[in-house]
Amino acid sequence: MTVAFMNAIELENLTQRYGDATVLHGIDLTVGQGEIFGFLGHNGAGKTTTIHVLTTLIPASSGTARVCELDVVEERLEVQRTIGYLPENVRLYDSLTAAENLRFFARLSGVEDVPRAIDEALGILDCRELADKRVGTFSKGMRQRIGIAQAILHRPKVLFLDEPTSGLDPMGVRQLRETIVRLNAELGITIFMNTHLLSEVARVCTTIGVLAEGELIYQDSLAQKRFPDEASLEDIYVRLEDR
Ligand code: ATP
Repeated sequence: MTVAFMNAIELENLTQRYGDATVLHGIDLTVGQGEIFGFLGHNGAGKTTTIHVLTTLIPASSGTARVCELDVVEERLEVQRTIGYLPENVRLYDSLTAAENLRFFARLSGVEDVPRAIDEALGILDCRELADKRVGTFSKGMRQRIGIAQAILHRPKVLFLDEPTSGLDPMGVRQLRETIVRLNAELGITIFMNTHLLSEVARVCTTIGVLAEGELIYQDSLAQKRFPDEASLEDIYVRLEDR
């Protein structure tokens, strides 16, 4: 039996302008299904803008973007059903409990069996004990886990994470890393992760892309060496940034 291979993400000549400033310069990029893709780049390189186009939050100025073969403009609603998104600053209601937050978002995204979806999401994130606690009392790491639970309530095929480790302590970073690997391995979710941390990419990613001033200057697979020598990755990055 042949299994059709589908790309999780395809960008073709993606260009984004804000007024006179061009912040993405005709990007071509593909990410295969099942990858953990690390999108590296310094501050202001255009990583968040790329995620915003892919998650249908902003329309691209020109070019195309597809998620699981769905066009982000023409098939916007289908794309929204197919993806989960954890923004850099997780948006949760501090006065509600974790379960109340999840219930609210589950209903918004049309999840059928809400109690079950919440229980499973909290189980996957290993934080059922947080269900009845008020989010306003949570650490950054706890908020991050509830944010990811929220993003997977509807079982997306692709999960976008924008700088997910920012502000986490070392234990939080480790837990997040384990979560990413588990979501990928156990639920088959393709991960697209923005980061400027080489260490994160080296530890969890199977493929990487490097963005510099709105240009994709490098894309490669780390699949053959899942835990590559961090220094060698740094060398690649520095050399490319110095071009
Ligand atoms: P960071 O790691 O700092 O979040 P980034 O790689 O995610 O950076 P973007 O946030 O995509 O980069 O920003 C790319 C460029 O686009 C920056 O110069 C930024 O100032 C600019 N930019 C982003 N959003 C807007 C906007 N709504 N209007 C005008 N300029 C914008």
